[in-house]
Amino acid sequence: MSETETRDFIRQIIHDDLESGKHDSIVTRFPPEPNGYLHIGHVMSICLNFGVAAETGGKTYLRFDDTNPGREKSEYVDAIERDVRWLGFDWDERLTHASDYFERLYEAAVRLVEMGVAYVDSLSADEIREYRGTLTETGKNSPYRDRSVAENIDLLGRMRAGEFADGEHLLRAKIDMSSPNMNLRDPALYRIRHITHQHAGDAWCIYPMYDFAHTMSDAFEAITHSLCTLEFEDHRPLYNWFLDQLQPEHRPRQIEFSRLNLAYAITSKRKLNALVEEQIVSGWDDPRMPTIAGMRRRGYPAAALRQFVKLGGVTKKDKLIEMGVLENCVREVYGETAERRMAVLKPLKIVLSNYPEGQVEMMEAMNHPGNPDMGTREMPFSRELWIEQDDFMEEAPRKFFRLKPGGEVRLRFGYIIRCDEVIKNDAGDVVELRCSYDADTRSGTGSSDRKVKGTIHWVSCEHAVQTDVRLYDRLFTEANPNSAEDFHAVLNPGSLETVSAQLEPALDDLEPGVAVQFERLGYFCRDSVDGQAINRIVTLRDSWAKLEKQAMQQQN
Ligand code: ATP
Ligand code: MG
Repeated sequence: MSETETRDFIRQIIHDDLESGKHDSIVTRFPPEPNGYLHIGHVMSICLNFGVAAETGGKTYLRFDDTNPGREKSEYVDAIERDVRWLGFDWDERLTHASDYFERLYEAAVRLVEMGVAYVDSLSADEIREYRGTLTETGKNSPYRDRSVAENIDLLGRMRAGEFADGEHLLRAKIDMSSPNMNLRDPALYRIRHITHQHAGDAWCIYPMYDFAHTMSDAFEAITHSLCTLEFEDHRPLYNWFLDQLQPEHRPRQIEFSRLNLAYAITSKRKLNALVEEQIVSGWDDPRMPTIAGMRRRGYPAAALRQFVKLGGVTKKDKLIEMGVLENCVREVYGETAERRMAVLKPLKIVLSNYPEGQVEMMEAMNHPGNPDMGTREMPFSRELWIEQDDFMEEAPRKFFRLKPGGEVRLRFGYIIRCDEVIKNDAGDVVELRCSYDADTRSGTGSSDRKVKGTIHWVSCEHAVQTDVRLYDRLFTEANPNSAEDFHAVLNPGSLETVSAQLEPALDDLEPGVAVQFERLGYFCRDSVDGQAINRIVTLRDSWAKLEKQAMQQQN
């Protein structure tokens, strides 16, 4: 494929701007508001902003758009820095805050007042709403709109000096109260808020509004391409109005692209915050959360997240991408790199009646079937073993090739065994199987060429390490919980199941965050926060896709 074919529309614009000489180099920014943790949607924006700059030898700022004190916390600031770095991007010395520019923003506001295109309004919040009109009804001018420049300058200075209470006055741009674009109906520039700012402290009691602060911060940083999501399309005329009025040395260009939405996941910080606040999840880094912190803790590698957003592309069309696409990216990374281990998640005991009591044999197990260079390890084999409950069926269909009464199966890296007797408790549940092993069938010895159809995994009871394993599933039962009226109604009650698993001894010292494949089950890692339990990162196959296919077939 040529380079042109892989270029999305934003990369095309950037390419053209460099070729035409409009810009010598590219400057972008990633501008999160520190009012929550970053999620999978932000991953797209990060990869795009840092990506286009890095590809062309340009630069990217990490800028905290911190104009909303009260909602913002330094916990979020720290998490955002950690997450962007973990994703593999570096802002060097270009770490900024909209609040770093409060003085310059104020000066710009004063200039707008002096130019006669901004005024101090003294209507109440309710009146302002009423005067603004609606989509079908034009707005009305505020009676304060024609205050003199001198009066406006005086009032603005006193707003800054703290002479007024919250909401008493508002600085507004004087644009057009009858504009069909609501954003141009004299938008607010500064509001009074007597509140401590997480970065600027108590230096200010008036704070700039997002559109004004964002546009001018872009200009101050000489951003060439200000990339944002589609909901800001209607704000672009205002963005350009600020630039037209104030004529900064550098004129950034705003370009919008569509948001990335992940199926069965929420990508709104407000709703993610509600999940945390209501303790529906254990925190922003709960492994079921679509946050970077959650996905990292779950065990998703950064490379998989980068690959995922690359597959999603950059367009202007709405997209809702299947969870399976993300999970496949994870499987692709670990398929080659993760060592194999054995673990039994839902244990059923088997006793090999003809195996000598007290005997232990060390079985050689490959760490990766496709890559002998990854070496081998030894697994103890003994008379009593754990196998997976699902690998036994009492009333098995003909095509069930795992263990059934009278049936045979191979124990991976071990022997062929036969099920002789099923032991049940009073309630009729199967609690143990009595089996016999064929001593001539030890794996790798070649002393027997007997073949059986099924192979199952196992762990020696005496040597196993009991550990809690957390099996995660989607948090929601609806493909698009973002648009559900109440997301509580579409929560998946089975999104977390904790099982008491039995692990082979080599897993005892599994380091937190290191992914391994449990054979036949999926990829797992020890939780990096509690250091004890093990998280299921992803199953080996997309079990939902299979279920959906079965459901389809049943319908046909
Ligand atoms: P939320 O609505 O959840 O609060 P936000 O857009 O307000 O999200 P910001 O912190 O302002 O969050 O976002 C930082 C940047 O990330 C913005 O440029 C925004 O456009 C971009 N972004 C946010 N969500 C997505 C998404 N789902 N897909 C792509 N980019 C996104
Ligand atoms: Mg935002």
